[in-house]
Amino acid sequence: MNGRPIAILGGTFDPVHNGHLRVAWEAAETLDAQVRLMPAHVPPHKPAPLATATQRVDMLERALAGQPRLVVDTRELRREGASYTVDTLRGLRAEFGEAQPLVLLVGADAFGSLPTWREWRQLFRLAHIVMLTRPGRTEPWSGELIGEAVPRRARSPRELQAVPAGKVLSIPVTPLDISASQVRALLAAGREPRWLVPEALLADPAILAPYRRKG
Ligand code: ATP
Repeated sequence: MNGRPIAILGGTFDPVHNGHLRVAWEAAETLDAQVRLMPAHVPPHKPAPLATATQRVDMLERALAGQPRLVVDTRELRREGASYTVDTLRGLRAEFGEAQPLVLLVGADAFGSLPTWREWRQLFRLAHIVMLTRPGRTEPWSGELIGEAVPRRARSPRELQAVPAGKVLSIPVTPLDISASQVRALLAAGREPRWLVPEALLADPAILAPYRRKG
């Protein structure tokens, strides 16, 4: 028995919202894992976040206060430039040791695009990969992805505690139709995204100021 997995959920979190939190929480409970929400640097070819890295981390910390299962992990922000997931997983492996079960959480759409990620086959050797699926949605898989993923399929979350890496599991999550773009649009229009973001982000008007209409 290797024990409780450490799982990562990457994203921009500009800002964190209840869709992120719910999916991270369900993964933490289903896998009996600690989930580390990992804000990313945004690569130069994508639109820059409206909030600074420090502000995005501050919002995550406020959102996660008062519960122990979800934590913020700032390792990608501490590195220069955008990070490759394979390097992030190598860093976690070096820090937590060869026996520690690690889990990469990905949406079903991101799972389908894994073969375009740097050193993608290594991802399956460094961590378990858990696909967060929404009811009724299926994404097409390429032949090479089928070849890598299908033989690794686990039947239950318990299998992910017995070995440090290499399994593939899909878990259903509650679909909350919330996106950071929607939250930003509401704030820019002078509206309040109550019940879409955690209460802690609304408590102090300065926190969501980067997204509000100026003047
Ligand atoms: P944007 O609207 O700016 O594109 P976003 O809301 O998709 O942002 P990200 O920070 O890019 O947020 O997402 C981080 C991770 O959380 C991604 O894996 C994404 O698929 C997932 N995610 C985002 N929103 C939801 C949601 N409502 N339900 C489940 N997963 C979500």
